[in-house]
Amino acid sequence: MTVTVRFAPSPTGYIHIGNTRTALSNWLFALKNGGRFILRFDDTDIERSKSEYAEAIAQDLDWLGVKPDRVEYQSKRFAIYDAAAERLKSAGLLYPCYETAEELELRRKLRLARRLPPVYGREALKLTDAERAKLEAEGRKPHWRFLLPNFKDDPFSPERTEVHWDDLVRGPQTVDLASMSDPVLVREDGSYLYTFPSVVDDIDLGVTHVIRGDDHVTNTGAQIAIFRALGAEPPQFGHHNLLTTISGEGLSKRTGALSIRALREVGYEPMSVASLAVLIGTSENVIAAPDMQVLAEHFELAAASKSSAKFDPAELDTLNRALVHALDFEAVRGRLAALGIEGDKAEAFWLAVRGNLGRVSDASLWWKIVNEGVQTAPDLSQEDVAFVREAFDLLPAEPWDRQTWKVWTDAVKEKSGRKGKALFMPLRLALTGLPAGPELADLLPVLGREGTLARRP
Ligand code: GLU
Repeated sequence: MTVTVRFAPSPTGYIHIGNTRTALSNWLFALKNGGRFILRFDDTDIERSKSEYAEAIAQDLDWLGVKPDRVEYQSKRFAIYDAAAERLKSAGLLYPCYETAEELELRRKLRLARRLPPVYGREALKLTDAERAKLEAEGRKPHWRFLLPNFKDDPFSPERTEVHWDDLVRGPQTVDLASMSDPVLVREDGSYLYTFPSVVDDIDLGVTHVIRGDDHVTNTGAQIAIFRALGAEPPQFGHHNLLTTISGEGLSKRTGALSIRALREVGYEPMSVASLAVLIGTSENVIAAPDMQVLAEHFELAAASKSSAKFDPAELDTLNRALVHALDFEAVRGRLAALGIEGDKAEAFWLAVRGNLGRVSDASLWWKIVNEGVQTAPDLSQEDVAFVREAFDLLPAEPWDRQTWKVWTDAVKEKSGRKGKALFMPLRLALTGLPAGPELADLLPVLGREGTLARRP
């Protein structure tokens, strides 16, 4: 069977680095296993879901390099859920309940007082047709619960019923179905809770592996029971650890914290975001993978640790720097052109400055320095000014290449007797206005003889 995975965000905000971990875990798993990747929007919550967010999520995934084989919207699939719910209803596995939240809370307290587990006691199953009709006549609308298969003959005497799965991340897992309440699958207003449509879709779309955050571990026992109730074999499950902010707070789509959109606008490379999202909180070294193939080689679901991992934006800067240093001109040509960096000098310029940039967009400043002259007046003493003037008289004739810097500074050294920092720093300051920056051996040919002489103090 073809490996089929899905990433199932609710379009209620922009995806953040934590959602990215889930998306990429699925994407890389599919890549490694020759599988298919489905993007499924869990947008059954009509109030909170927005099509703008769905579009933004698709764009952010595309920017990261995730190209879904299929895109589905749960909001367009209600007929399928209704049919599946009807099947469960006729089998007596989905039953109507009329309790209000207050009534349920009261019962919970009573059970606790009687030292019974605080789970739903299935009281609604005892209602006669007449009682139900009476409640409905009073205007009560039912919500619907799934009857967990945790009993032999009598639903009011649940027995320990273990569900097992071998989690792709966490290893063998066991859940006792008698320890939980029958889950509500349909609300009073007829809308579905996430649990049910998700299972129906996973069956209908042929999902073989459900890879998601470990906040869903507790759903898995009930979901496995629902798969079986619908006559399907459950897929394999893998629950990875979650990411938090550096101060340990959970990430939320609603707050926009560490959204992919924001990281992208700041100018990070997609692969540095992807590398960090996938590799932190695992036993793998965090490297800046240049592409998905390389990242896939370093990705192993089982390598994720069991506890949550902190996402440190400073690490992103380090990875981004490493990636930018290695980007060849073709990879950035379009982006540089958009910054106005184009023409004959553009490639040599890029190769000269890339080793000094945190982000591609930082190239703008250096382009300005190269083309318009120093942006900050160099801080040179009288003596240094005299030295630089003398040095400029020794500039070799063109053509210039990478060796020109050495040829020139050797001559300057010989004539002036200066060496080391005293020799190089005034030249750097005169040429760039800044005390640090790209290798001057690379920058000098880009400036050219004329451009260099124009900087004569
Ligand atoms: N919409 C759910 C979420 O965003 C999907 C969970 C799942 O993958 O099953 O948490």
